[in-house]
Formats: sequence, C-alpha cells, structure tokens
Amino acid sequence: MRKILVVGAGQSGLQLALGLQSQGYEVTLMSNRTADEIRSGRVMSTQCMFHTALQHERDLGINFWESQAPRIEGLGVSVAGPDGGRAVDWVGRLGGYAQSVDQRVKMAGWMETFARRGGQLVIHGAAVSDLDYFSRAYDLVLVSAGKGELVSLFERDADRSPYSAPQRALAVAYVHGLGPRPEHPDYDAVRCNLVPGVGELFVMPTFTTSGRADILFWEGVPGGPLDVFRGVRDPAEHLSLTLELMEKYTPWEYARATRVELTDAGGTLAGRYAPTVRRPVGRLPGGGLVLGVADVVVANDPITGQGSNSAAKCAASYLDSITAHGDRPFDEEWMRGAFDRYWDTARHVTKWTNAMLGAPPEHVLGLIGAAGAHQPVADRFANGFNDPADFEDFFYDPERTAAYLASVAGA
Ligand SMILES: Cc1cc2nc3c(=O)[nH]c(=O)nc-3n(C[C@H](O)[C@H](O)[C@H](O)COP(=O)(O)OP(=O)(O)OC[C@H]3O[C@@H](n4cnc5c(N)ncnc54)[C@H](O)[C@@H]3O)c2cc1C
Repeated sequence: MRKILVVGAGQSGLQLALGLQSQGYEVTLMSNRTADEIRSGRVMSTQCMFHTALQHERDLGINFWESQAPRIEGLGVSVAGPDGGRAVDWVGRLGGYAQSVDQRVKMAGWMETFARRGGQLVIHGAAVSDLDYFSRAYDLVLVSAGKGELVSLFERDADRSPYSAPQRALAVAYVHGLGPRPEHPDYDAVRCNLVPGVGELFVMPTFTTSGRADILFWEGVPGGPLDVFRGVRDPAEHLSLTLELMEKYTPWEYARATRVELTDAGGTLAGRYAPTVRRPVGRLPGGGLVLGVADVVVANDPITGQGSNSAAKCAASYLDSITAHGDRPFDEEWMRGAFDRYWDTARHVTKWTNAMLGAPPEHVLGLIGAAGAHQPVADRFANGFNDPADFEDFFYDPERTAAYLASVAGA
C-alpha cells in the first residue's frame, strides 16, 4: 500500500492521517509533542467550527466529543456605541449548529486513536533535513505543521497576501463561571463584539479538559488600547487585563463575567501573526517535493474564526485528491492541482477575512445595522461563517448589498 508521511498533528494533519488510515494507506504521523504534552499544555485556539467542517469529522466517524460539546445555535453581533452602550445588537440562527472542542482534548484524543488503530506515530520535531531524507522513503510527504518553522519551505504568495504584518494582537482566556447571555439564555451562541477602531471581543462556549467552559477572546488593533498582553506571563494577570478591557469597552459582556475564573493554568494564550498565503509545493535541498496543508499554505487571521474550519476542509479535499489519484505518482502537477481544488474554497475565506480586518465601508455598516431589523439578514450573515462563498452575493459590492437589502425589505 502507498506510504504517506504527515508532519504535524493538528486539525488538518490528524484528520488527514485518520482518513488515510481508514482507507488502508500506510501512514506515519510526526508530531513535535506527545498526546499528554498537548493535553496538559497551553490552549492553542478558540476553534469554533461550523456545520460543513464538523460534517467532515462526522463523515470519518471521529466526532468523538459531539455529544459533550455545547451546541452553538446562533451567532450574534454587537457594536459598541460612543456612549458605552450597544449601537447594534442581533443574533442570527445557524442552519446547523457549531461547536468548539478544545484542541488539547481533540488532538490528544485523535493522536491516541491513530496509534491505537496501528498508525505509526513518531514524536519528533521535524527539520528540513529530516524531510529531505523521508521524501525519498515515502510516496507523499504532507506538511501540516501550522505556522511553525517549516513554513520557510513554502514561498509567500505576495499576490494573495495583502498584509505583511499582523493585523490584530490576540489574547485568549478560557473560563468557568460566565453567566448566560441575558437576552437569549435558552440557547448557546457566539457573540462577536465590535469596538470600532479598537478591536473585537469574541465570546463563545467550548468543551475543554475540565468540561463545559467559555472563551473570552480579544483581537486588538496593534498599538491600540487592547494591545497590552505582550510580556504578560501570569495567567491571573492575563485574566484581570481581559476583564478590565471588557468593563471598559464591552460592559454588557463584563456584566456576566464578574464571577469567572480560569479553567486551568494553561487556559490563556497571547500572540500575533501576519495573515499569509504561500505557494503549495515546497522543494527540499535534495530535490524532493512536499505539499503544504491548511495553515502552512493559507493562514488567515482568526477574526472570522475560520482556520480550523479551513483545516478540516483542506484535509477533506486533499483526502479526496489523494484517493482519486490511485497508484499514480504524487508529482508537482498533482500537488498543484490538489491545492488549486482546495483554494477554490479557501479563496473566499481569505477574501472575507482580509476584508473584515479593515475598517468596514459604509455599505457593510449598513448591512450589519439592517441585520438588527431583519432577521433573514442576521441569519444569512451568521451562516456565512459556515460558507463564506455566500458573501460574494451580498457583502463586498455596495450595489449587490443594496439589491439584497431591498429584496429583504420588500419580501
Ligand atoms: C487565538 C486563535 C483563535 C482561533 N480561533 C479559531 C476559531 O474560532 N475557529 C477556527 O476555525 N479557527 C480558529 N483559529 C485558527 C485555527 O486554530 C488554526 O487555523 C488551525 O488550528 C490550523 O490547523 P492546522 O492543522 O493547519 O495547524 P495546527 O493546528 O497549528 O497544527 C500544527 C501542528 O504541528 C505541530 N508542529 C509544528 N512544527 C512541527 C514540526 N517541525 N514537526 C512536527 N510537528 C510540528 C504543532 O505543534 C501542531 O501540533 C484560531 C487561532 C488562534 C491563534
């Protein structure tokens, strides 16, 4: 059977490794951390995943935490007004629910499943020299190592990467004890709080190592008032800063957060990175070729909560491309074709995410405002997180937005 090496045990690498394994491929998975190290380590993401991405996991029968994780039935937007209140506040209902399963739980569990099913798991931080050697021993080498050092193998695609510096400073805190949203205590939803010119606060339910929890996630414009987490090492200090900023900029969220405590000592994360699209094929010093997967080749800012969704979609698309190729060689042409097929979905995510990082134009402000008056607009906006291609029809172009809003108002 064909031998495939997967380097990096995140959403995309593990989903691909488990998918290939179930189809009889001989898969080796290389991870720079053991399952226990991942489980007891620091949180890595907020990993809210929407229906289509979750369905890819269900298709492989690896949705192990589906019954335990909160069902996120809605996605709301609040916009802070100049008086400290909310100028906009609505919630759209999702067609299929979303879920967030802490990657520490999921990746550790999937890794153990892969090994239990007979997969070869190698705990080793792969270097380029390792890949050089392995590219000769395997039919295909997939690099799914996220935003780590191996990205240097893949050239930045300047035409598809409008930003060369981070656009947000990220600060995440996992907490127990958050109160429900008072307006809709009956169902779970993500709330995106937009603070114009300052940044965003995302609040979402999750399933973590200690059960149900909530995530408080600030995205701050670099150099602005939210960009204060650099150098903060103490998790307790990280949480108090998070809460101070909530009290100042999103008092309606602070009101339900007065009793929160961190889930665990690894429950905070801070950092930043530049959104980057790279060329999909890496050439090793010895001439071998490797194919980049998910964040390695398309890393968007988490402002739209798409990276894990995209990683799941990339893994599903590559799995199809690999199995459809049969016994033919995985050459450069095939690699480019596999990426182009994925890019057909990913390009919509990149376009929308990069648009959300800029100051919203007048017609987008109008659209967000209109969602408060027309439930179908709120629902469509919320479901765009599941399928960002839909934004093409009503988001980017003022005339299309106007035509859509007119059609809703006249309906
Ligand atoms: C703060 C934050 C919030 C986010 N929120 C969301 C969200 O709500 N929804 C969403 O969809 N996405 C979100 N994302 C993005 C999402 O987490 C990532 O896009 C997704 O995890 C990428 O998956 P991946 O498989 O490409 O890489 P990763 O998940 O990064 O996995 C890569 C793995 O490879 C390992 N590795 C690295 N180098 C090596 C090496 N040399 N050898 C071996 N192993 C290596 C790493 O340790 C890691 O385990 C968020 C990201 C951040 C930072």
